[in-house]
Order: sequence, then structure tokens, then C-alpha cells
Amino acid sequence: MAKETTEKPVIGARQTVRFEHSDPVTRLCQACGGTQEGRHQNYSYTESGLDNVVLLDVLVFNCKCGEIAAQIPAVSVLHQIIAAEILKKPTLIAGEEIRYMRKFVACSAVEFAGIIGSSKISISRWENGARITPNTDRLLRLAFFTKIVERAAEAAIGPGDTDHTATVVAFARKVRSFNLTSFLRTIKDVQDRMTIKIDPATVKRFSQEDGVTSTLQLSSDTASRV
Ligand SMILES: [Zn+2]
Repeated sequence: MAKETTEKPVIGARQTVRFEHSDPVTRLCQACGGTQEGRHQNYSYTESGLDNVVLLDVLVFNCKCGEIAAQIPAVSVLHQIIAAEILKKPTLIAGEEIRYMRKFVACSAVEFAGIIGSSKISISRWENGARITPNTDRLLRLAFFTKIVERAAEAAIGPGDTDHTATVVAFARKVRSFNLTSFLRTIKDVQDRMTIKIDPATVKRFSQEDGVTSTLQLSSDTASRV
């Protein structure tokens, strides 16, 4: 798959070393077969489609051949954390955050336009950075939140006749603690790009709640977009 030259800079260019621990960890490079060293560092998670998400203390392998590979823990949980951060952003949500959320709730632009009574063209404009009104901001957040709740409710109910009371109660607690409608009243009518910093402890805590343990291997060649 050919990449366009206008794409964001190589992942490694945006990293800053933070921890030293027991680093470096060494392993064989999948690209050149040589030895590559891994260190814990802050990692700009541009694979999410967002340039303002920084994962703290992630193991990143850099190879002399140019290959860069990051180990991203519990990626589905990570994506949920990012979505929650965006929904609770205190200023207007930005274009790429809108795109992230729409993809997170697995809606096509056409489908999402239908939900909010808008057009695919408007969605595309917003996602590409056109300024949105406070009104649109709230509409988008409510639509995203509704989609998330619907999907979670579906998952919580699940197939069969099993008693899902505990799952439903846990889910209801989450919705209540999120308290979105109260929060919506406090959003400032300004455009702002805040950095979303996510530390390993947060991911671990959420993973334990959801029982997720998988680790995503990202590399500069195989980096997948959300
Ligand atoms: Zn290599």
C-alpha cells in the first residue's frame, strides 16, 4: 500500500525519551533481521488519526534500518479511553476528533449524517477542520454518546437467557458517573488542541475492569489506522 508523501512525519520523529528502567530491551528486527533496541518512552499515537494523543511510558523499538515498532497495550481499552477524553473535552471538539469518534462508533459518514439530520458534505467539512458551532458540538457529542451506549447495551445484554444483572448495573454506573448532560453545559466556545496524555496505569485499570489483556504490535510498516 503506497503512502502519500503529504502524510504525517514518521512516528519516531515525535517521540521523547522519558524512562530508563531496565532498558534497553533487545530483540530481532522483523524488517532487517538485525538487533533492535527497545526503550520506554512517550509515544505520539498518530496511528489513531489524532496528533494530540501521547501514550506515556510505552516500549518502543528503534532499529538502525529505520524500522520503528511500538508495543501498545490493551488497544481496545485505549481507544475507549481516548473516546471518553474527547467526549469530555472542555472546549469544542476538533475535526480529527470528530473523525476519530465517528470511526470509533463504526459509522460511515453517510450513516452518521442521517443520524444527526445533516449531509455527508457537512460531516466531511467538519472533519477537515471547518469551525463548528457550540450547537453542532453538543449535537455531535450526544449522537456519539448515544451510539456508544447503544453498542454497550447490546454487548451487555448478549445472546441467550443468562442473567446479566451485574453487567447491566456496572454499565449503568459508568453511564451515571460520566454525567454527560451536566458536563455539556460547561463546554467553552473556543477551539483548542489539548494533548491527551494516557499513562499505563490508566490503561491497566480500565483493562482490569473490562478483562482485556491483548497487546497491539505497531510498526512503521504495518501501522494500522483506527
Ligand atoms: Zn531493522
